[in-house]
Amino acid sequence: MPFTARLPIVLTTLALLLSLGPALHAAEAVAPPAADTAATATWQAGVARTVITPEKYMWMSGYGGRSKPAEGKVHDLWAKAVALRDPTGKTAVFVSTDLITVPIKMVAAVMEEITRKHGLGRSEVMFTCSHTHCGPALDEMLSYMLDMKEPDWKQVRSYQKTLDAKLVDLISAAVKDLRPAAVSFGNGRCHFAANRRAPKGIGPYDHDVPVLRIGSADGQTLRAVIFGYACHNTVMSYYKWSGDYAGFAQLYLEGRHPGTTALFFTGCGADQNPLPRRREELAAKYGRMLGVAVDQVLHGNTTKVSGRIATRFEHIELAFDNLPKKEALLEVQKTGSRYNQAWAGNLLKQYEVYGRLLPTYRYPIQSWQIGSKLTWVALGGEVVVDYAVRLKKELGHSGDDRSVWVTGYANDVMAYIASERVLKEGGYEGDRSMIYYQQPSKWRAGLEKKIVDTVTELTVDNRRQAALPYKLPGQLVFDGKSLAGWKKTRFGGEAEVVVRNGQLILETGADMTGVTWNRAQPPPDFDYEVSLDAMRVEGHDFFCGLTFRIGKDPCSLILGGWGGGVCGLSSIDGFDASENETTGYKEFQNGRWYRVRLRVTRSQVTAWIDGKEILVQKLKGHKIGIRGEVDLSKPFGLSTWQTTAAVRNLRIRPLTAKEKAAPRK
Ligand SMILES: [Zn+2]
Repeated sequence: MPFTARLPIVLTTLALLLSLGPALHAAEAVAPPAADTAATATWQAGVARTVITPEKYMWMSGYGGRSKPAEGKVHDLWAKAVALRDPTGKTAVFVSTDLITVPIKMVAAVMEEITRKHGLGRSEVMFTCSHTHCGPALDEMLSYMLDMKEPDWKQVRSYQKTLDAKLVDLISAAVKDLRPAAVSFGNGRCHFAANRRAPKGIGPYDHDVPVLRIGSADGQTLRAVIFGYACHNTVMSYYKWSGDYAGFAQLYLEGRHPGTTALFFTGCGADQNPLPRRREELAAKYGRMLGVAVDQVLHGNTTKVSGRIATRFEHIELAFDNLPKKEALLEVQKTGSRYNQAWAGNLLKQYEVYGRLLPTYRYPIQSWQIGSKLTWVALGGEVVVDYAVRLKKELGHSGDDRSVWVTGYANDVMAYIASERVLKEGGYEGDRSMIYYQQPSKWRAGLEKKIVDTVTELTVDNRRQAALPYKLPGQLVFDGKSLAGWKKTRFGGEAEVVVRNGQLILETGADMTGVTWNRAQPPPDFDYEVSLDAMRVEGHDFFCGLTFRIGKDPCSLILGGWGGGVCGLSSIDGFDASENETTGYKEFQNGRWYRVRLRVTRSQVTAWIDGKEILVQKLKGHKIGIRGEVDLSKPFGLSTWQTTAAVRNLRIRPLTAKEKAAPRK
């Protein structure tokens, strides 16, 4: 047996290599995206773009006072995407749109397709908008403030459908375009944004211009440039399609660098306006100012991106301050302004559906680490500038050596996101704007700390991940390209097992789908660690049933069982994962990757999710077993229950002498 505790480390490693057989080595040597060799230590990028200007004139979004559909066009509206891939194959896609908002339903529809097609998890795609107030009305949310009739709504929903499909194609095109690239970043400055809260121009601002340069592999040709600015796109309020100053800035850069795609994102500019405004030449001027600032960065020294990409995405519950009573809403519906009537009507619908108003909102927070030096945070909603100022300070933004970028208006725009200061001051961003977003009241105090704490937690974890070497310890036991070394488990009722984009996808079975170890050499029995990334793509039951050996005995680590959240080992002393001492509960989000680690020593079994310990089981005096359902997964296998799952980076490594000797408590 290769996995004895007595062998020195080197020999144990060698033994592990040998035990996994020649097929594994052949596969691993050529295995992007899970490539492991230094020879492939290059970054890749893919770029795509598509026009999203509505084909027919329709209602515009941004101002409730407009009384008719658009009737002209300054320039086209675009959706653009850049896919980034690090040398380990980890991929992240940035999406920029000339739109007022990022409808949550749009994100859900697009992600469902993207996860199916490309296996990208929720954390790996960032949806942003320029918040142009000269773009089309989108489905729900902000559109309730518009004076639209049913045929207008129909047109909006039909446009939305086309838009969803275009974004799926856009992201796919960016992923298909992935090829070696030189990626670097820098920071510029631009000064037209002004704090719009009273007294105007006095409050805080963020004049940074973050710039991500995507060059050809030799760095000579500019393929794309992503840039941001923390300011409302509200120079214009007329009836012509336009990307406002951000549209002009993108056109300026694309004019200066033919063949380049320029992509804009909005920073925390919720309380920032381009002042003065309302003349088209001003929109063009601000666009040029911003474009020049970006160009300066492009022509200066940018910092090369190297290392890994790490991505995290979490929802947190933000509470509303108070929930209006039904009677009060009925009264508003009778006597209120058009805006208040729409607001009351939508909240009354909630009473109908849920019998109450929902007391919290599921708020999205995303953090990316692009190599060791660039942290890129994306927050939902119209985020006021205080967040950017605070996060840059607390996460250590120091310009080109370490940059912290904060994108607002990302992944869902459900309301203004006030800081504690703005919340206390009240006014439009702190309070009154909630009406236009169909939210019951202003936010409850305490949201700033919640948001900042979560961003910090995700960023710290990402930085740790991004600092890992390309070559992770252990042997890949799934090559990302084929089922070599595995066989489909014949549970009866199993669905397809497919290998796509470096991932093993176990489709929803009736009830189980899985793969079983199929190599001449047996899997390890003691003193080893298994690690993998697992994602529930669809379904509500366990997406990771990992059957492994503890000496001669089989055992299973179950994640997300019994309706979606139960974790534990099946079975201990005859009790399964839902009813023994390892039983725990964790809420799993579909479409999100979880890093799973399982360690087996002679004295105990330990498991972690995303670096947090979820269970420890001492072995002495306990009877280890499995449930009959997974009998065919022996001696080592993966399974799901009525659920589609994706798995990647499945590795096994022997423990070091130190790890073996000092089991964690
Ligand atoms: Zn706004």
